[in-house]
Amino acid sequence: MEEKRRRIKKKGKEGWNKKGNKWEREGKHAVRVGNGGARQAEEGFYKKPSKLSLFLSTPNPFLPLSLSHFYLLTSSTSFTLQLLGSPLSLVFCICILRISSTRKMDLRRRPIPATAHPLKTQKLNNNNLTTTTTTTTTTTNATHSHAPSPALLPLYLTNALFFATFFSLAYFLLHRWRDKIRTATPLHVVTPAETAAIVSLVASAVYLLGFFGVASRTSLDELSDEETILREDSRAPGPCPAALLDSPATKKKYNQIPLPRSKSVDKSVPNELSAPPPLKAADMAAPAPAPAPISLSPEDEEVVEAVVSGSVPSYSLESRLGECGRAAAIRREAVQRLTGRSLEGLPVQGFDYESILGQCCEMPIGFVQIPVGVAGPLLLDGKEYTVPMATTEGCLVASTNRGCKAIYVSGGASSVLLRDGMTRAPVVRLPSAQRAAQLKFFLEDPLNYDSLAVVFNKSSRFARLQSIQCAIAGKNLYMRFRCSTGDAMGMNMVSKGVQNVLDFLQTDFPDMDVIGISGNFCSDKKAAAVNWIEGRGKSVVCEAVIKEDVVNKVLKTSVEALVELNMLKNLTGSAVAGALGGFNAHASNIVSAIYIATGQDPAQNVESSHCITMMEAVNDGKDLHVSVTMPSVEVGTVGGGTQLASQSACLNLLGVKGANKESPGANSRLLATIVAGSVLAGELSLMSAIAAGQLVKSHMKYNRSSRDMSKIVS
Ligand code: ADP
Repeated sequence: MEEKRRRIKKKGKEGWNKKGNKWEREGKHAVRVGNGGARQAEEGFYKKPSKLSLFLSTPNPFLPLSLSHFYLLTSSTSFTLQLLGSPLSLVFCICILRISSTRKMDLRRRPIPATAHPLKTQKLNNNNLTTTTTTTTTTTNATHSHAPSPALLPLYLTNALFFATFFSLAYFLLHRWRDKIRTATPLHVVTPAETAAIVSLVASAVYLLGFFGVASRTSLDELSDEETILREDSRAPGPCPAALLDSPATKKKYNQIPLPRSKSVDKSVPNELSAPPPLKAADMAAPAPAPAPISLSPEDEEVVEAVVSGSVPSYSLESRLGECGRAAAIRREAVQRLTGRSLEGLPVQGFDYESILGQCCEMPIGFVQIPVGVAGPLLLDGKEYTVPMATTEGCLVASTNRGCKAIYVSGGASSVLLRDGMTRAPVVRLPSAQRAAQLKFFLEDPLNYDSLAVVFNKSSRFARLQSIQCAIAGKNLYMRFRCSTGDAMGMNMVSKGVQNVLDFLQTDFPDMDVIGISGNFCSDKKAAAVNWIEGRGKSVVCEAVIKEDVVNKVLKTSVEALVELNMLKNLTGSAVAGALGGFNAHASNIVSAIYIATGQDPAQNVESSHCITMMEAVNDGKDLHVSVTMPSVEVGTVGGGTQLASQSACLNLLGVKGANKESPGANSRLLATIVAGSVLAGELSLMSAIAAGQLVKSHMKYNRSSRDMSKIVS
């Protein structure tokens, strides 16, 4: 500060600094007079510029240069030559001409630095208006340089010259007018000098009018450039919300260790670990860039070292750095150093880490790429769907695609949604089995249903209680609440509703001890008969009649062989195996692939893949009736992973993205039927392949790499 103060000029008692702030001298120091009387020491100061000098030095992007250019060339030269007869006037005119032409070129050709801040960019461009050159090459260079060109007049001088020209000409013409009136000379009789003066006056007026912005826009390109600059700026990522989410306790504990901030403003320093601009849904359609070799900036290197040494917890990086992308890249590097294992091949850039924060994944170090294929069109209930499937299992998409074709040429499949309700079953303990039974009767009494529903439904405007099913084990009671959840898969929603009811029940049953909000009678992510029998989420049945010639030509098998195989494999074979809901060939293959592609919870594949596949010869044994019955398809189109860019794009492909505004729940119900329809296609195709003895052959073709696996070592 002292150093700054010493540099302050001593002359004058008050003035204006570069930023336009007023300063006053206080003792030996200049102080800034800010808002509310705040006074701060300032480094340098200047006299406040006069209005005239501001006017003369302000650049004008709307100047109609072609007009002024023309008039100056034709009239101003001759006028000044006649009037003044001085060689200096010729130099003057040439200077103006050169300034005008180069200025025009510069306005039209100035490049836009992609990374510069818009204000800086505009300032830079404005500077360039005053330091232009006469050729295209030098003009381009000038836009990148702040150094003024000594060969040209600065803009303020040009403006001053036009200003002076205008008023001296006006004075000259008025003077001549007065003489003519005195000598009774007709006004329309003008000498060549007067003609030149009039023309030059008009030219100067045009220039000055343009200076005030009265003239129309000279180039649309200029404005679109400005807009582009603004758009560039809007892409700048905002601060990471993690910084706001962090708990005060965590902040207090770890904020003692300061972390270097990334120099995000200084784009000249490449920082590989800086967060890339988050990709929007449309951008994410583009392939992720190949992982580039990571080079750490000194600031990031410091943070990595702090994480490796344990002085900064890895989980706190997002909140401390305020940049999720940078946090992920630093964590990734720290993990490599801590484990001594390379993560080469796991991309970190090209993902919007802010979109997963606090919702989908903690402590990210990158993202796994899973290819997404499409099967279809699936003709279901009269509509065509192109089904996205994220999988690394060769044959799967191709096989499902063949099933879709068989369904399509047979006239399509139809589906019925039998039930739609998500469940959650808490477990409570009462003092006795008798008391547990009392609570069970209370909950199952239709007279109590309405009041319980009101309490439950408070959890969400989409949650609507449907039923409460109770099971007793001694003095423990399991209450299976079922409710509709709109377009959400609904686990959060139903849990909130259950919590409301438990709180409400405590009044009448104060001896009720809540052991757990989930007592596994729900039953979530586990194979359970309750889901198989009662259903969970969406219960769907889907059917199709496949014509005999389609079975023969597309599926390359016969109706008879398919029916027999289904009986012995999917029904009898699964019974022999003691299967629970597993009366199918590979429903989970299709369910998992669609779930991953569309942002569902892949762990719910367990009960969502419960399926019984039925095949029967119909139409005098010629055609094949095939159906899949799936009681527990748990899907949503809002919440969880569905809002991520890639998953959202896949939902969009199916026409079920987000919440259905007209009929809440319609999107998720439609998605459930599409899942069932795709399973139908998958079942048809795989069963046909097995019936025709093609399974091993096709897997050898599509599912085996010719690469030598022994060379891939860990
Ligand atoms: P889940 O219950 O599947 O875990 P979330 O509770 O995380 O899902 O997300 C559902 C959120 O979406 C809720 O806050 C809900 O209010 C909101 N929402 C908006 N529109 C809908 C809709 N049509 N159906 C269901 N939820 C919706």
